[in-house]
Amino acid sequence: MALAAAALALVLAAWATGWVARAWDWGVAAYERRFLTQTRSEFLMGTYVTITAVGPGAGPAADAAMARMQEVDGRLNPSDPGSDIGRLALGAGTDVPVSSDTIAVLELADRAYRASGGAFDLTVGPLVTLWGFAPVDPTAVGGPADQQRTSPPTDEEIAAARAELGWDQVSWDGAAMTARLARPGMRLSTGGLGKGYAIDAAAEVLRQKGIRRAVIDAGGELLMVGSKAGGRPWRIAVKHPRQDGYLGVLNVPPDTAVATSGDYQRYFVFEGRRYHHIIDPATGRPAERSIASTVVAGSAAWADALSTAVFVLGPERGVALAESLPDVGALVVAPDGTVSESGRLTAIFEKETGAP
Ligand code: AMP
Ligand code: MG
Repeated sequence: MALAAAALALVLAAWATGWVARAWDWGVAAYERRFLTQTRSEFLMGTYVTITAVGPGAGPAADAAMARMQEVDGRLNPSDPGSDIGRLALGAGTDVPVSSDTIAVLELADRAYRASGGAFDLTVGPLVTLWGFAPVDPTAVGGPADQQRTSPPTDEEIAAARAELGWDQVSWDGAAMTARLARPGMRLSTGGLGKGYAIDAAAEVLRQKGIRRAVIDAGGELLMVGSKAGGRPWRIAVKHPRQDGYLGVLNVPPDTAVATSGDYQRYFVFEGRRYHHIIDPATGRPAERSIASTVVAGSAAWADALSTAVFVLGPERGVALAESLPDVGALVVAPDGTVSESGRLTAIFEKETGAP
């Protein structure tokens, strides 16, 4: 009797201190990992994309989601003359038939352009190409090594490329499913939001297939679909832009995206200076106010576009932009290493706790 009472007390104590719940979560997570988790990985959009889906039917669902990402890539790839973006450049001055994905991307880019005061500008393509950061096909002859610059372009070249920009000269008609670049020489650069858009599109496929828990990872961009086992927040490490470690860990709620932009992703060094792939449309040169930015938002496309915008804007205006938008958090690292955060980000950020 005394033994039974002691055992009962022990169980109650374990329950009260959360051990039973934790053991249950651990058991569920282990079962899901072992029996219900499927992972698919492909090289896409210049990076390794990984889809991890949990639940019955996770395999076919992940396959369908990956196929959807490939479809989006086929439409948005600026270096493919047959893609929507390639055909828009070739058909400048005319109305070009495009997919609903391209219309959605143009609408999103317009929101990002207006919210950021032009810091995010999809027409930055000629500058991205001039600086040697146009997307490249790593399998092509004369591929990345030959296209990568080793010294900056001249002021004249920068001025000439800058003259090709102009978001006000891009138009589209969502009903007719056409879009138009006003002048030959204009080029859209989808690298700042394409991965995020493709991730959202893949997540939609997963949800349609009944998947309620998944992670889609495309290099700097991530989307957590549904909640983690036990309803705990997802723990996402934010990379240090200059060291092998982490700035800290984000405790991310369900159905949230995290996007990171950095000057360490694609760059060359000339005479001790780093020249990278995120261009300030106001100067025509790599943006200098940040070395990294991370944005948390409800959609991966929006987080992706905003991380690029916030990077260009820098700590002060970048954090102010995040504060002005509902459900958006931002973290910006200045060139001197100072980390600035918006309120919503501070609420979920644990600084320098090492690798999760
Ligand atoms: P991300 O890594 O998401 O910040 O995207 C960087 C990519 O966005 C570059 O490789 C370019 O393709 C594109 N990009 C660069 N500068 C800008 C800009 N000011 N606005 C929009 N896209 C940009
Ligand atoms: Mg981006």
